[in-house]
Amino acid sequence: MTGRGHSPGGDGGRPAVAVALDVGGTGMKCALVRPDGTVVHAERHPTDAGRGPEAVVATILDVAEGLAARAHATGFAPVAVGIAVPGVVDSTRGVAVWSANVGFRDVPLRDLAVARLGLPTALGHDVRVGALAEARLGAGRDAGHVLFVAIGTGIAGAHVVDGSAAAGAHGAAGEIGHILVRPDGPRCGCGRYGCLESLASASAVARRYAELAGPEAPAGTAPAVDAAGVACRAAAGDPVAGRVWREAVDALADGLATGQALFDVRTIVLGGGLARAGDQLLDPLRAALRDRLTFHREPRLVPAALGDQAGCLGAALLALDTVPADEKPGAQDSAGAAGSTVPPSDERQES
Ligand SMILES: [Zn+2]
Repeated sequence: MTGRGHSPGGDGGRPAVAVALDVGGTGMKCALVRPDGTVVHAERHPTDAGRGPEAVVATILDVAEGLAARAHATGFAPVAVGIAVPGVVDSTRGVAVWSANVGFRDVPLRDLAVARLGLPTALGHDVRVGALAEARLGAGRDAGHVLFVAIGTGIAGAHVVDGSAAAGAHGAAGEIGHILVRPDGPRCGCGRYGCLESLASASAVARRYAELAGPEAPAGTAPAVDAAGVACRAAAGDPVAGRVWREAVDALADGLATGQALFDVRTIVLGGGLARAGDQLLDPLRAALRDRLTFHREPRLVPAALGDQAGCLGAALLALDTVPADEKPGAQDSAGAAGSTVPPSDERQES
């Protein structure tokens, strides 16, 4: 928490903040965020999805209301609410359509928040809003056209153009993890064989290593070596780990080359657990991607910069997009302090 932004704005009003919540399967990351991306207050709460969706929704509304009250009490003006959720999200209607790990089925979260807090509210998809934040405030800043790819348990992505993430006609754009890269490959969670995430996600890397290295753990337990462990062993010269790592890099390069053919971006931002391998992933991946490009321009390939704050910051940006610039009191007084500002609201589109 910082004290920045307590000075009155140019119009004499209190500085504007967005109330932002990033709701995940295990926890909610929540914050009060200034239009320039400065976090003035942050807190976390357990989701406890096992309680059922109604209880989770009640917690979301309680937390949002508490954050708005805290904004008022500390000299800020809460002007909008942004909520990011996983799964299938209809941002246009403000409905959390479906989520396996939170249990949502057609929850009209936006209208519920508007009724409770009386503030304009935006509902977004967790990966797309994270991409939005990386594109506007993080590693994709100033790139204009950004492809964000999060490599964790699965592989998810989003394409951001001039600060807006495209959702697609059915809310499923950017699912780069389900690009087919090996028709004879392993079965993917979606039911098909050979999707990118069945070969190059963190869980796929751990599974493949266990397959090739033979069982080290007693039968029935989780793989003894996770993706980070495979990366370490590969760096130390373990030939099996090296092979697994190369296979994952090759599959990723195939997927990203397809992404670049479709989107022609300036920057590809890699996030998620596997990207924490840093240059051990990025260096061979850059070379492999370069090998696969013919007439397409090579994108910059960079690690994500905002860590696990990206979803919360993106939810705030989405929220602030709903508010005309002249209704954000004090929006100018610290503009530029974080080296960037939110684009004017006429650049927004539904996401
Ligand atoms: Zn798939």
